[in-house]
Amino acid sequence: MKKLLYILLCLGLLLCLCGCGAQPEAETDGLSIVTTVFPAYDFARQIAGDRAQVSLLLPPGAESHSFEPTAKDMVRVHSADLFFCNGGESEAWVEELLESGEDIRALSMMDCVDTLEEEVKEGMQENRAEEEEETEYDEHVWTSPRNAVRICEALCDELCSLDPEGEYDYRERLAAYKAELEDLDAAFRQTVREGKHHTVIFADRFPVRYFVEEYGLEYFAAFPGCAEDTEPSARTVAFLIDRVREEQIPAVFYIEFSNQKMADQICEDTGCGKLLFHSCHNVSADDLRGGVTYLELMQNNALALKEALG
Ligand SMILES: [Zn+2]
Repeated sequence: MKKLLYILLCLGLLLCLCGCGAQPEAETDGLSIVTTVFPAYDFARQIAGDRAQVSLLLPPGAESHSFEPTAKDMVRVHSADLFFCNGGESEAWVEELLESGEDIRALSMMDCVDTLEEEVKEGMQENRAEEEEETEYDEHVWTSPRNAVRICEALCDELCSLDPEGEYDYRERLAAYKAELEDLDAAFRQTVREGKHHTVIFADRFPVRYFVEEYGLEYFAAFPGCAEDTEPSARTVAFLIDRVREEQIPAVFYIEFSNQKMADQICEDTGCGKLLFHSCHNVSADDLRGGVTYLELMQNNALALKEALG
């Protein structure tokens, strides 16, 4: 009996050792990069290639604005060679972590570009009057392809200093990726130039201010970018319906993971169409498994924009 127990104990120990050894971040030769939101994850994959293990903290399909890291996530962040985050209001936990004085090498996407203050536009439904009036910066910097270029350049510099042996590789990958981002940028510019309309209407949250600023588009939207409340009020719906009618807008936008309630209501009342504009915050489990990229999502956005601008 004693012997059996002993064998079982050894077996258990062995299993535990095997299990622990299987952790991906421990045994790889390359860099480990932990990212918070999908664009950071994808940019890191594009620039680092097979010289790094890149992981995304946000679970697929999860709401990025209410994400709180688990204890396990914190361990991953601490053991990474680079923590590539976004910054901003939704990542308050990141700010706390980085201010704690712990030894974490971090790069924030918001620090790579010129940021814009959050804007509450005419007609928008806002539910944060009681909050303290501190200037908040819009965090959705990646929605402008030109910002994506700046972010990737900064990331490339960071990788070169962490892993000088890989410099040639990183710079090559950056150059190739930049060319694709520049094509994307040109496609958007052409669409806007040739479009009949120059106003986009988001019957939803509006996380793409950097995008519309980049291309000189006018916009109206139901809620600010990171709003939690997306229950449409009659007043907001009426305001957007007026805009659609006045400017004879062919289609309104909704964003990924939206209930599309407001878009449906506007379509019903005005006969306009509805289109997805993917803000790229996060992607679904299927998309992630299928290897979707920022470029692909943005190219689909370019097609949708063409339709919406008529
Ligand atoms: Zn957001």
